[in-house]
Amino acid sequence: MIVPIFLPYFGCHHRCTYCDQASITNAGEISIASRIEHSLAPYTNLKNRSVEVGLFGGNIFGVDYHTLMTLFSFFDPYRDIIEGFRVSTKPAPANMETVDLLKEKGVTVIELGIPTFNNAILHSLNRHHTVEDLQSTFSLLREKGFSVALQVMVGLPYETGNDIKNTIEHIIRLNPDYLRIYPLVIFRGTPLFSQYEERTFSPISFDEVLLRTSLIYLSALKQNIKVAKIGLTANEIIEEGIAGGYYHPAFGYLVKARVFYEALQSKLNALPHAKKVTILLNPKDIPHLLGYKRSHVRHLTQQGISMEWKEMSCREGTFFIEWEDAKIECTIFDALPILQGTD
Ligand code: SF4
Repeated sequence: MIVPIFLPYFGCHHRCTYCDQASITNAGEISIASRIEHSLAPYTNLKNRSVEVGLFGGNIFGVDYHTLMTLFSFFDPYRDIIEGFRVSTKPAPANMETVDLLKEKGVTVIELGIPTFNNAILHSLNRHHTVEDLQSTFSLLREKGFSVALQVMVGLPYETGNDIKNTIEHIIRLNPDYLRIYPLVIFRGTPLFSQYEERTFSPISFDEVLLRTSLIYLSALKQNIKVAKIGLTANEIIEEGIAGGYYHPAFGYLVKARVFYEALQSKLNALPHAKKVTILLNPKDIPHLLGYKRSHVRHLTQQGISMEWKEMSCREGTFFIEWEDAKIECTIFDALPILQGTD
């Protein structure tokens, strides 16, 4: 079990243009020490008491050594129930002293935020680090024996389809332990919100961001890179703060459903005579087949295709199309050529 502890802007010397920790952490005004106590004290009386602590919402590499020592000292009363720490952070400025301290204090997993692998866009987001910083920190952490994950974003200002392909190439080359993908959300009061209001950047469509996210997701899966999370969920966000962007409470589901639909559609396109089909699939994939509010069923009906479905004990992501006396095996990866053509 992961117990999340949010450290809004902890170690952030520069504010990223899209960031509003108040809208996504709900950490409030109470001190870090009190937050740690409130979060961990309930577990000390439980029988199965082992927890992993997640430190989220800041830049641990921007914190000086002594402040970091103080932070970890707040966990000392709970050391017997903590099996390790997971930290999310900007990738810079990483230094050996901090990295060694994190190791010594029991950090095992570090998630590095890299919204895009385009330095010009990173600059425009006021990130104050480069792709090269990410690469060197990633290598250093791996050498030191940490598990290293990546957090990327989709739908950023100035982002093109080529940036998404570039992101995918870097992800595959780095081969992180897992990946989180966050579509851009525009929060009121941020510099990005001002740009949005002044119309100095025009967001692309929701559907385009869905397709770009689907491409990253499927490309990662193809390389056996686990995608731990897609999008923020309703319990992580204060919806009143959202002014635009691509928030949807079921964004992860929308991505998985879109991938399934594109795979099915690519096969059906090659079967123009199959107008009455039965899809055999893993029960967990039925919501992906049907689509959000059964939208996929409607789209197929509009194409003159009548579809039934039956549960089958096959792997998730694998399915079969049956029509007349024929049957073919398909996988979600059949969607890749269609998604790769997206720009
Ligand atoms: S590094 Fe993270 S927490 Fe800090 S300003 Fe940027 S997005 Fe926000």
